Amino acid sequence: MFQAPHLTTPVTQDSPLTQAISAHMLLPAAAVADWPLFALVFTVGACIGSFLNVCIYRLPADESIVRPASRCPHCAAPIAWYDNVPLVSWTWLRARCRACRASIPARYPLVEAATGALALLALWRFGATPAGAVVFAFSAALLLITFIDLDHRFIPDEVSLPGIVVGLASAFLPGRIAPADALLGVLIGGGVLWTVAWGYERWTGVEGMGYGDVKLLAMIGAFLGWQAVPAVLVVASLTGSLAGIALIVVRGGGRDGRRVARRLGPRALLPFARRAARRTAIPFGPFLALGAMLALYLPDVTMPWRVG
Ligand SMILES: [Zn+2]
Repeated sequence: MFQAPHLTTPVTQDSPLTQAISAHMLLPAAAVADWPLFALVFTVGACIGSFLNVCIYRLPADESIVRPASRCPHCAAPIAWYDNVPLVSWTWLRARCRACRASIPARYPLVEAATGALALLALWRFGATPAGAVVFAFSAALLLITFIDLDHRFIPDEVSLPGIVVGLASAFLPGRIAPADALLGVLIGGGVLWTVAWGYERWTGVEGMGYGDVKLLAMIGAFLGWQAVPAVLVVASLTGSLAGIALIVVRGGGRDGRRVARRLGPRALLPFARRAARRTAIPFGPFLALGAMLALYLPDVTMPWRVG
């Protein structure tokens, strides 16, 4: 019998969120932490990941996510169920469509494996409880948003707006945060970013932050409570800036910038910085999602003020 170390040790030093969840667990965690359940949960998670792949592909194109059944994006041949088994089929088909031999990107099985891992993580930390299911749904939504934002630079309202409602409603389930904290999370999370987005746009005349990010942080606040909002913002800003600097270094926008600045003086810096920012604009959604996952699973690190 496998015993999850996290669940067999008391979690009293954890954040109030974790404490509230462990106090309301329906089953003792050690009793559910066995391998058949882990395998089942991973499989269910991977199947949901397969559905997320469909959503990542079809939601931005405004296509139905239910019909038609899965098709090869290259030759439009319908994909039989036995060629659509998460992880297995991609390996079995050696990453090629059975009909046209077009290669199937490794991202498909990667999303499936990642979703399975998120399901395992939620079970491991929160047990087979309503709160565990809520946490998995939340992290699957973050994964979906991350890939759509990476591909298309926008966050679909079809995910974030229902996410706010589900997050608020789930606060009434046992083991979740207080409904008032969830409601404040929506108002503060959405309010802070809305002010930043609105102010930045007025100040510079450039849309620096999409309002999709505003709705995403409101959704994160609904699931994690207002207390997590600062932690999510700090993690997202730090990791987002680091990624931005790394991109500028890698793409080498520096030489042109220096020449323009030398000729025109410091006045040229602002427009250049703006243009460089627009060219290397990286989506903020994935970093907000990362911040949310860290606030959820590492509250002691990301929210030290909540401990004790
Ligand atoms: Zn094909």
